[in-house]
Amino acid sequence: MELNGTSRVNQKGVLEIGGCAVDDLAKTYGTPLIIYDVAQIRERIQAYRNAFQFFQVPYALAYASKAFSCKAMCRLADDEAMWLDVVSGGELYTALAANFPAGRIYMHGNNKTSDELEYAVSSGIHHIVIDNFDEINRLVEILDKHNTAMQIVLRVTPGVDAHTHEFITTGTQDSKFGFDLFSGQADQAVNVVLRQPRLTLIGLHMHIGSQIFEAEGFHVASERMAELFSRTKVNCDTLEWFNMGGGLGIRYTKEDHLPPLEEAVKGLIEGAKRAFERVGLALPKLIVEPGRSIVAEAGTTIYRVGSRKSVPNVRDYIAIDGGMTDNPRLALYGAVYEASIANRMLDEPTMTVSVAGKCCESGDMILWDALLAQPQPGDLLAVSCTGAYNYSMASNYNRLPRPAVVFVERGEARLVIRRETYADVCTLDL
Ligand SMILES: *Cc1c(COP(=O)(O)O)cnc(C)c1O
Repeated sequence: MELNGTSRVNQKGVLEIGGCAVDDLAKTYGTPLIIYDVAQIRERIQAYRNAFQFFQVPYALAYASKAFSCKAMCRLADDEAMWLDVVSGGELYTALAANFPAGRIYMHGNNKTSDELEYAVSSGIHHIVIDNFDEINRLVEILDKHNTAMQIVLRVTPGVDAHTHEFITTGTQDSKFGFDLFSGQADQAVNVVLRQPRLTLIGLHMHIGSQIFEAEGFHVASERMAELFSRTKVNCDTLEWFNMGGGLGIRYTKEDHLPPLEEAVKGLIEGAKRAFERVGLALPKLIVEPGRSIVAEAGTTIYRVGSRKSVPNVRDYIAIDGGMTDNPRLALYGAVYEASIANRMLDEPTMTVSVAGKCCESGDMILWDALLAQPQPGDLLAVSCTGAYNYSMASNYNRLPRPAVVFVERGEARLVIRRETYADVCTLDL
């Protein structure tokens, strides 16, 4: 496992994050434990800001809270003057419960329920990102009922799909999200919205994928969006935002080769600048809404090693006290991680071993064939880069209580989500 952020190995050979030794944290808070390196989160946010400030373009930096949402994370985002992208009533509730200002929140979702739309409207959030025609009707009905108006942004599918190292420019119209650009749906949606006096169209949105390594997909998509922006602007003088989505990749393993975040963001801005120059428009205000690239690398999960199993001539397994319940990403899409024995960081990793979770499910794996320092029962296993889409996807499968989450910064640890108890697991049962 590579050390990132404030991660160090202390004199006892123990992994230390944010100035806190993880064996102490494990003793205090138990395992599995998700540790967030707050300084690293702040650094990633600053990298985005530096890129925008370099070009001196107006922008809003939003945190895609679905990557990891809890009150403390919302407060941290507010502390850093970010905007917040929520995709459900639950995420909106979390943000408001953390006193995140509604004026810097907007809502996404491909099937926002009427309740969620009502909640968004009555909370006074900045805008709603409309995803489909049904939603336009549903929102207008609600606005009629409350005799009020709402700012909206249209989510457009520009036909560019940019997952990981590749991107595909056509044939990816087939998405459950947004108004399709090629078939003219996006233009049609603009026309429908402009005829609705209760809706103020303030921007256009795209999101072309996640864990993206190359800027090129963004460039192609930005060109298509700039053309739509230019057509739309003719009849709409309230149009002022271009939301480029999230999706920038992070380094999960040493096989992931990426430019520094600030450079990657500069690449996106440059692409947008060029695209709008091409259509003869001033650059609109840009929104980016990263999730993973803000929190993924800052998160480390600490597990306690329990059982071992050796299948002769096949594979060695160790099992840890968590699994797909706190990290379903391998089971879901084959995600690859790196790990170390956190209490013996100086020992040579000499054993190839696969790390299994404790759930009754063969797919419940955390790592296949990792190189580790002879793991023994009782050791602490650190899995790096678990800050995004881990806790937020956690479940109570097998009625496992979900882990605790701590924020560490400058030698201090703060429990931000307590570990669930068995009683919590039964708390909804009637
Ligand atoms: C998931 C998502 C994001 C965040 O994506 P990351 O890959 O975590 O940066 C941003 N915008 C939309 C619309 C999303 O669905």
